[in-house]
Amino acid sequence: MNAIQTLQQYIDESRRIVFFGGAGVSTESGIKDFRGVDGLYHLKYKYNPETILSRSFFLSRPDEFFEFYQDKIVQPTLNAAPNIAHKTLAKLEAMGKLTAVVTQNIDGLHQMAGSKNVLELHGSIHRNYCMKCGQKYDLEPVKNADGIPKCQCGGTIRPEVVLYEEPLDETVITKTVQAISEADLLIVGGTSLTVYPAAGFLDFYNGNRLVVINLDNTSYDSKAALTINGKIGEVLGQITL
Ligand code: NAD
Ligand code: ZN
Repeated sequence: MNAIQTLQQYIDESRRIVFFGGAGVSTESGIKDFRGVDGLYHLKYKYNPETILSRSFFLSRPDEFFEFYQDKIVQPTLNAAPNIAHKTLAKLEAMGKLTAVVTQNIDGLHQMAGSKNVLELHGSIHRNYCMKCGQKYDLEPVKNADGIPKCQCGGTIRPEVVLYEEPLDETVITKTVQAISEADLLIVGGTSLTVYPAAGFLDFYNGNRLVVINLDNTSYDSKAALTINGKIGEVLGQITL
């Protein structure tokens, strides 16, 4: 049996699939990842993405933060549509075979593809709020802002995105741990598994069918029942549902 046939068999036999993904899930939608070959780390900036997208940088240089955020995070997402990986996962959920998509992505493409139970470990660019009065906003005022987006009250509107140096949401953590610990099949894809605590949640998996689908090798390959070095959209696109 080849790798795709094995994955097909795993999916056919499973009823509580959890997918755990990262930026690589959206590269086939045209959004750059951080650490892949074409990722943002390989572009030449004054600072690397992790520095700019940190709490301390955001608080001390909000103008530079929003310049990068609007240019490199928000704008590419506005033109992006879900790819076959997002769509296959949404279909698996609709079929009653997949219980949760856990994602480190902040682009909202899983929901756009129709997924309902999406656990966004790092928040979403689509939710924003005023740091002074708490007023909630969608993406509009942020994407249209010239410089720092401002609320009517004068406060800064910030994305509900977990910056480096900030803790993850407790409710999302609890749901993630529960979904992974109850999963019969855990498919990990499009993530370098280098961002913590997110990557550490994989350790809550109790089953023996861990599948890793990634272009580069990851530190979890040795624990996987099946490792596929390939593009996640191309791989999941070969699954018959
Ligand atoms: P990463 O950039 O560290 O790693 C991406 C991994 O995906 C790499 O190992 C790469 O080889 C692989 N990859 C790239 N394209 C692929 C494809 N088509 N199929 C299979 N594998 C592919 O990403 P990460 O692990 O998610 O960590 C980066 C952090 O940055 C995350 O916390 C995330 O919040 C954020 N981020 C989000 C987005 C987004 O929302 N789309 C984009 C960039 C970064
Ligand atoms: Zn306000």
